[in-house]
Amino acid sequence: TEQKLLKAETLNVVGELAAGVAHEIRNPLTSLKGFVQLIQNQTDDFNQYLSIILSEVDRIEHIIKEFLVLSKSNSQNFELTCIKAIIKDTVDLLNTQAIMKNIEILTEFEDGIPLLFCDSMQLKQVFINFIKNAIEASSIGNKVDVTIKMCPDSEYVQIKICDYGCGMEESVLKKIGKPFFTTKDEGTGLGLMVSNNIIKHHNGKLDVQSEKGIGTKFIISLPINQQN
Ligand code: ADP
Ligand code: MG
Repeated sequence: TEQKLLKAETLNVVGELAAGVAHEIRNPLTSLKGFVQLIQNQTDDFNQYLSIILSEVDRIEHIIKEFLVLSKSNSQNFELTCIKAIIKDTVDLLNTQAIMKNIEILTEFEDGIPLLFCDSMQLKQVFINFIKNAIEASSIGNKVDVTIKMCPDSEYVQIKICDYGCGMEESVLKKIGKPFFTTKDEGTGLGLMVSNNIIKHHNGKLDVQSEKGIGTKFIISLPINQQN
């Protein structure tokens, strides 16, 4: 346990450092952008290059923003929490995005799920990441299934996020969760890495099953008797 605590501490410190750096990068970026726009307004020369600079700066800003949002979930606040409520919140939050693709997020919660000793803000971040990924992988009109049930051994609560979207081939599956690995134009490749860290903080497990063209299932298992 001591080693686990140490690991959690290290992750926290690294997260805080990274968030600090991300914050510091933001200000010079804003000034960079301002001056490029200023030059653009003064002259028509190099317009094409200046546009490229602006869009690259936008891209850095996007990554930093997502990074800061993710690292906010770093302060730990463990308490007994209803996991159903967290998932309901998350689904409500993402429904607008789902509706735009005509996607229905269906939830199925088993009765008698116990309260879990966990950090609700961190876990919400995890569920947002997985359900967002599921929506992004889906085609118009697909559905996304989110279920909560007890493991047969009764030691874990199992949360499944199942989509019927693009799926992943072996080569992609091997790389997911590595920092900055993404197959999306607007992706950051940070979601799964951060989610994985949070699940580890909770002594949980993460499994994935995916088939190209068929869909993907992420299974998060969180321990019931957890007193950190
Ligand atoms: P991002 O969403 O910014 O790309 P993530 O860490 O959340 O970063 O995901 C990394 C990559 O894993 C994605 O770019 C995608 O290739 C793959 N992936 C994650 N979830 C799914 C899913 N449900 N279906 C298909 N591919 C997925
Ligand atoms: Mg993502």
